[in-house]
Amino acid sequence: MEPSDLGTDLARVLLTQEQLESRLDEMAQKIDEDYAGKDLLLVGVLKGAVMVMADLSRRLHHPVHMDWMAVSSYGSGTKSSGVVRILKDLDADLTGRHVLIVEDIIDSGLTLSWLVSNLRSRGPASVEIATMLRKPDAAKVDVDVRYTGYDIPNEFVVGYGLDFAEKYRNLPFVGTLAPHVYSS
Ligand code: 5GP
Ligand code: MG
Ligand code: MG
Repeated sequence: MEPSDLGTDLARVLLTQEQLESRLDEMAQKIDEDYAGKDLLLVGVLKGAVMVMADLSRRLHHPVHMDWMAVSSYGSGTKSSGVVRILKDLDADLTGRHVLIVEDIIDSGLTLSWLVSNLRSRGPASVEIATMLRKPDAAKVDVDVRYTGYDIPNEFVVGYGLDFAEKYRNLPFVGTLAPHVYSS
């Protein structure tokens, strides 16, 4: 899909498919090095991380385990509150495992910081984070992100797994929406 296929929905393209892909190559190479000789469990956070999980995992040169979690964060309006509910838990037992959480985006970081402590309480050997996108506010929360794709401005973005009302997740690039899309 090309940005032009979206007509007037898109305000601008923030990251092209090529930019996402070349950064994924680098992230995968680093992960391969860091986890050489270790059994790695990738934990994808539904639904947004589906694209990153698929593209990142296929770039790794060692077989990994994959599991998924779905969480919902309660909050007023568009900001998350840090109060998180598990909608779908992992199937895997984390005892003694090396866990890498795979995320689409970190905004306030509240959801992720809750998730990290939750997973750490299950007795894993390690818990690290890989995220494709990170917004400036994420820096305010004490979560140590091992692998970051791109730092982006504080704007609402869609595509590459990220939605607006469940739409636009399938865009192969990351873009911002034109105001008429969300104000009407
Ligand atoms: P946090 O707890 O870090 O504020 O929330 C992260 C979650 O909020 C992400 O997993 C994503 O679902 C959603 N989110 C945060 N920023 C954006 C954005 O710019 N666009 C979209 N589509 N979702 C976002
Ligand atoms: Mg997410
Ligand atoms: Mg969403």
